[in-house]
Amino acid sequence: MKSALVTGVLGQDGAYLSKLLLEKGYKVYGFVARRSTPVDWRLQELGIDKDVERIEGDMTDLSSLVRALKESNADEVYNLAAQSFVGTSWNQPILTAYSTGIGALNALEAVRLVKPEAKYYQASTSEMFGGMPEHPLQSEETPFHPRSPYGVSKLFAHWMTRNYRESFGIFGCCGILFNHESPLRGIEFVTRKVTDAVARIKLGQQDKLYLGNIDAKRDWGFAGDYVEAMWKMLQHDTPDDYVVATGRTTTVRDMCKIAFDYVGLNYEDYVEIDPKFYRPAEVDLLLGDPKKAENVLGWKAKTTLEELMHMMVDADLRRVKQEMK
Ligand code: NDP
Ligand code: GDP
Repeated sequence: MKSALVTGVLGQDGAYLSKLLLEKGYKVYGFVARRSTPVDWRLQELGIDKDVERIEGDMTDLSSLVRALKESNADEVYNLAAQSFVGTSWNQPILTAYSTGIGALNALEAVRLVKPEAKYYQASTSEMFGGMPEHPLQSEETPFHPRSPYGVSKLFAHWMTRNYRESFGIFGCCGILFNHESPLRGIEFVTRKVTDAVARIKLGQQDKLYLGNIDAKRDWGFAGDYVEAMWKMLQHDTPDDYVVATGRTTTVRDMCKIAFDYVGLNYEDYVEIDPKFYRPAEVDLLLGDPKKAENVLGWKAKTTLEELMHMMVDADLRRVKQEMK
């Protein structure tokens, strides 16, 4: 039986990846930070909260990662833990650098010291590209220009993973994932903020939805599809880096329209702009070229943005109705 250690296991991707690995017969160990109020609602929603064995630790504490790797003896390490919200990274840049940047280096060091033959996945991000106008389509060859402390921290982790591959022969892969969403997405991210508001407005619990820059464009996919790409990277013969995206970009405005249309409402009647949601530096356009992942890994996004938004609105309608009971 193969075993995997998943950091960030209580996050969106941690939940979907754990489900996938359990279905494939892995023993899954989840690396979980101590919180005064533990939140494992995502594992519960997927019905796997009893199946993931938890190991307590923090990405900023190398000793806890070393212990986790010894205890799990993992064949595959998926480093998904991060302070992952771009907006927060301007308010807490140092925490973001520690957990998102140094945290990945700690995980790599744990692999090097305890089990150098383990395969390592690094959760890199399209935010590293910064959406520069001279590169309207981003691939593995596109130069990086991160525009937030989050993007800068992720770029450090990305290059460290490449460096450990080149220096020590660690089987380290970076998945440069574009935005991916699901009913398990954190409420602070724009898609989930929209679908939660659509549900509340439809059910008479909310009047307006306040957003920032609705002209920004993102390449949005479904997290359930994207975790398959992570796993496929570690099953390939050689370690490498891959863009994972749908190849379609949509404005925040049009994404809102899809969600409001689904429940028969006109988004223009409800969406208002509040400049407090503008960012100090914006990533205007993300559009990924997933050809390499398609050709080498045989991976392709399956879920359309319409299907994704409908799935998320349905889930939020269900949750809000439950709350109202
Ligand atoms: P989430 O924010 O949902 O999950 C991140 C998890 O990491 C949370 O459970 C969080 O716990 C945990 N974590 C944060 N800091 C620490 C720490 N110091 N020690 C241990 N655990 C910690 O992110 P996603 O699941 O959406 O994303 C997974 C990874 O992929 C992240 O690294 C993200 O940056 C990256 N990524 C995500 C994209 C997306 O669109 N979703 C796109 C590209 C990359 P807690 O909440 O308790 O702090
Ligand atoms: P990101 O791409 O990782 O930053 O994912 P987000 O979902 O947080 O943001 C996606 C885009 O939506 C960014 O360009 C944001 O500026 C834009 N956006 C507009 N209004 C909002 C808002 O109210 N909240 C968030 N999170 N993003 C918003």
